[in-house]
Amino acid sequence: MLKGKTALVTGSTSGIGLGIALALARQGAQIVLNGFGDSEGPKAQVAALGVKVAYHGADMSKVGDIEAMMKFAAAEFGRVDILVNNAGIQHVARIEDFPVERWDAVLAINLSSAFHTSRLALPAMRSANWGRIINVASAHGLVGSPEKSAYVAAKHGMVGLTKVTALENATSGVTCNAICPGWVLTPLVQKQIDARAAAAGMSVEEAKRLLLGEKEPSLQFTTPEELGELAVFFCSPAGNNVRGVAWNMDGGWVAQ
Ligand code: NAD
Repeated sequence: MLKGKTALVTGSTSGIGLGIALALARQGAQIVLNGFGDSEGPKAQVAALGVKVAYHGADMSKVGDIEAMMKFAAAEFGRVDILVNNAGIQHVARIEDFPVERWDAVLAINLSSAFHTSRLALPAMRSANWGRIINVASAHGLVGSPEKSAYVAAKHGMVGLTKVTALENATSGVTCNAICPGWVLTPLVQKQIDARAAAAGMSVEEAKRLLLGEKEPSLQFTTPEELGELAVFFCSPAGNNVRGVAWNMDGGWVAQ
């Protein structure tokens, strides 16, 4: 379905971003990966699906890096047709204890990077009259939780940015939507589970059950594969007029 299209997924060396990149690659899209850590493993996983893959190690907190990555993608593949703004970090602390430098980093990586990639990708999408921008927000883009001020503010901002991007392009073939996952068992969440288990002197399994029980009626983690299929839907012809939604896939978290 996506043969001939190029998808750039930020933060795709791990977790949800890699899941989305693989789902788009299964539909034939060529992929630009980004993120820290090992890139060879993820590149090999995408290449095994028979599509072209490239990697750029831009730091999403740096505007100059983002500009270089977008230039690189255009040089490699012509243009970016599908942009998935997924890179994200977390920091957990009460507002009065929140390190200022962590606030700035969360806002830069989880929100401002999506503004920069979008402003750089939109002109070519508009010229082609086809494009998809998918912003990975969170259930925390729709509701709050204590000790996550920067994350919740950035993710609510991401939902707002999604609506404006959708509206500014509403008469074109360029759509923008947000995905709002609940808990997904990736390194980002495993760190929080490990910290809670250590603080409460409980097993990691018990900490997992408590984490799910607090928020998710389904008591199940959403998977990167399921989120990848939602991204594929947004890119399908059925998604042509889906504009500005914040689609939660969260085991019932925000239905409560
Ligand atoms: P993860 O830690 O597995 O992956 C994060 C990715 O972002 C990695 O590839 C990492 O290298 C990259 N990254 C981090 N900082 C970066 C930077 N400065 N520049 C470039 N890349 C950077 O986390 P994940 O759980 O897969 O999270 C992906 C997205 O999904 C995030 O935006 C996160 O907020 C969101 N999310 C996650 C959950 C969850 O439960 N895991 C729930 C809701 C939303």
